Amino acid sequence: MNIIDGKKVSSFLKEKISIEVNQRKNEGKKIPHLAAILVGNDGGSETYVAAKVKACAEVGFDSTLIRLPESISEKELLLKINELNNNAEIDGFIVQLPLPKHISEQKVIESILPEKDVDGFHPTNVGRMALNLPTYLPATPFGIVKLLEEYKIETSGKHCVVIGRSHIVGSPISILLARASYPGNCTVTLCHSKTKDLKEFTTKADIIISAIGKPHFITADMIKQGAVVIDVGITRVSSTETKSGFKLAGDVKYDEVAPKCSFITPVPGGVGPMTIASLLQNTLLAAKESIYKKNSKVICA
Ligand code: NAD
Repeated sequence: MNIIDGKKVSSFLKEKISIEVNQRKNEGKKIPHLAAILVGNDGGSETYVAAKVKACAEVGFDSTLIRLPESISEKELLLKINELNNNAEIDGFIVQLPLPKHISEQKVIESILPEKDVDGFHPTNVGRMALNLPTYLPATPFGIVKLLEEYKIETSGKHCVVIGRSHIVGSPISILLARASYPGNCTVTLCHSKTKDLKEFTTKADIIISAIGKPHFITADMIKQGAVVIDVGITRVSSTETKSGFKLAGDVKYDEVAPKCSFITPVPGGVGPMTIASLLQNTLLAAKESIYKKNSKVICA
């Protein structure tokens, strides 16, 4: 059994990015600049955005954090987005989700200029991903693809079962792994909450990607011997072992599943750290040139 070390791979990727930023500095080129809009004071969102800003500093990017009150109207938020769309200093930006209920997330996502949509959530970028055109891949699926690549995991002809069909993880990773490229060429089955007899699918899977958000849901009896298991789930569960009173749990019952796997990602330290590294990678790409002018097949730098 091999543990896929997302912390190590993400550090390596960040190191590569910072070398490139230094080179750009020395050549007098623009330093990549990521902006993040944070609406309200949601604890989880605060943590995620703080980690993104910190990661920018680590690799030498400029970053701008725009904090807006929970009470901001949709119209005011769209105006702020428009400002960033037109600000040549900002290469890419994100609007941290979730948003307050009175604001339409879809409207917000669609108001971001696709060229600056480094989260890869805009319908234009999702469509380009599906068509295998240069685009910004959504950060978490991008991170998963990177991990498979780094560990040289064979994907061609493999049966991959993706569990969860969210727009940010399950659906895009199912598209990416079905594409005619590496990592890809999988036969993909996309399972979700309405799937009947999930185990029937998972026990036949060579690769399982679980993105449901139910701690320890995937048990050893659901896994084929030698399977690759990628655990995307992150759920806070209460714990007496930590000062904070909680710890992070994945979808997979790690202790019993790991011995059956050929490769497995831990939680924490698996997919999580890759998500931020992928966002940085997309921002670097945005600063370098317009992806829409590139001829290369897939942006998977
Ligand atoms: P979501 O919460 O939007 O949706 C969950 C999905 O799981 C749905 O598509 C649903 O159909 C499916 N599902 C629920 N119960 C199921 C069941 N019993 N059987 C089969 N399918 C079932 O999904 P999300 O936003 O992709 O998040 C999923 C998990 O991944 C969460 O724990 C989230 O915190 C985590 N996540 C982690 C990262 C990371 O960087 N590692 C990034 C994004 C999300």
